[in-house]
Amino acid sequence: VNPDLLLLNASQVVTVDPDRATPQNPLGVLSGGAVAVEAGKIVWVGPSSHINPADYPGAQGVDLSGRIVTPGFVDSHTHPVFAGDRSDEFEERLQGVSYLEIARRGGGIQKTVNATRQASEEELYILTRQRLLTMLSFGVTTVEVKSGYGLDWASEEKSLRVLCRLRQELPMTLCVTYMGAHDIPREHKADPEAYIDQLCTDQLPRVARQNLAEFCDVFCEEGYFSVAQSRWILETARDLGLKLKLHAEEFTDLGGAALAGELRAVSADHLLHVSDAGIAAMKAGGVTAVLLPGTAFYLRLNYAPARKLLDAGIPVALATDFNPGSCMSENLQLVMTLACLNMGMTPAEVLQGVTFNGARAVDLHHDRGTIAVGKRADLNIFRACSYNELLYHFGINHLERTLIAGQPVSLHDFKVL
Ligand SMILES: [Zn+2]
Repeated sequence: VNPDLLLLNASQVVTVDPDRATPQNPLGVLSGGAVAVEAGKIVWVGPSSHINPADYPGAQGVDLSGRIVTPGFVDSHTHPVFAGDRSDEFEERLQGVSYLEIARRGGGIQKTVNATRQASEEELYILTRQRLLTMLSFGVTTVEVKSGYGLDWASEEKSLRVLCRLRQELPMTLCVTYMGAHDIPREHKADPEAYIDQLCTDQLPRVARQNLAEFCDVFCEEGYFSVAQSRWILETARDLGLKLKLHAEEFTDLGGAALAGELRAVSADHLLHVSDAGIAAMKAGGVTAVLLPGTAFYLRLNYAPARKLLDAGIPVALATDFNPGSCMSENLQLVMTLACLNMGMTPAEVLQGVTFNGARAVDLHHDRGTIAVGKRADLNIFRACSYNELLYHFGINHLERTLIAGQPVSLHDFKVL
């Protein structure tokens, strides 16, 4: 190997590499570890004592005493493209009005849809860019980003174009999801099937033809899209070459998890009310569970049964669900602490949830999510002596720096627009 960068003497290199994992060391942690990077890839991982920097005069050496290194974080479920303000709903909810009741009163997704339709593409671009940079500041190097606040073709296309532009401009990896089936738009409330028909015969084919998204997602929920309607949309998307995701069993046990399993979706997300049959179907279909404890926290709901999913052998990813209604936070580090305290996940399972299993949830685990030879050098360096410290000392940002494909990323390079 001929590295250009050597990270040395880290208190912990948290590899999350299954090949290094043991029951006593489930994350394959190397104490006093080192990582060598060459041309954006990880080329060597091991104890610092096994590498002599003098042998590699062309490499920049960085001493990471008192620091830990983790894979770059993957936030595998976010809704960052929207305009408007819903801070008034926060106070309504504090007074006891439910999320679904707020939606019935004309708030909720529909209010954001109106503002997003009215916003110019440039305004949406500026808003979305700032949110993604905030995520990056917390160590998110790969992020799944959904459309779904347009709900007509002009506004969905505008949202997807903003995401495609940001995918070119920002250093992080954006996995773009088309979610025209986020809600039935106001003008189609009387005839939802007409909207779904338009989605399947017009919007989805355009998304595929213009290569605007890699995934398709549906809000399968009472009052939104039924299981049959979700199946119609997802099967159409699959036939057009899109990968599948599904918002399933967030407020009720409708049967979305079983559908995700049957269609071998990449992920089923939320799952607060998932049944045993739904879990079995997900397991059979190789579906990753994406859990969003920030949303349960923010809406004061019961949490998803993470332990049951983990004990069934389903990979569990953790994500923010960043969105203006049910989780207005880009802070994935906070979500990690919530997962430990409220879903009974171990710190090791939580770290897996934002790295390797997060990468599974966006179908990038071949290249992201672990510190292993051959993977892309997306790495976070935290001011901490152990990964437990990230969870224990909560509500702050532990990140010192981020490398993406081996290159240091500085937020100072991205001016506020
Ligand atoms: Zn969502």
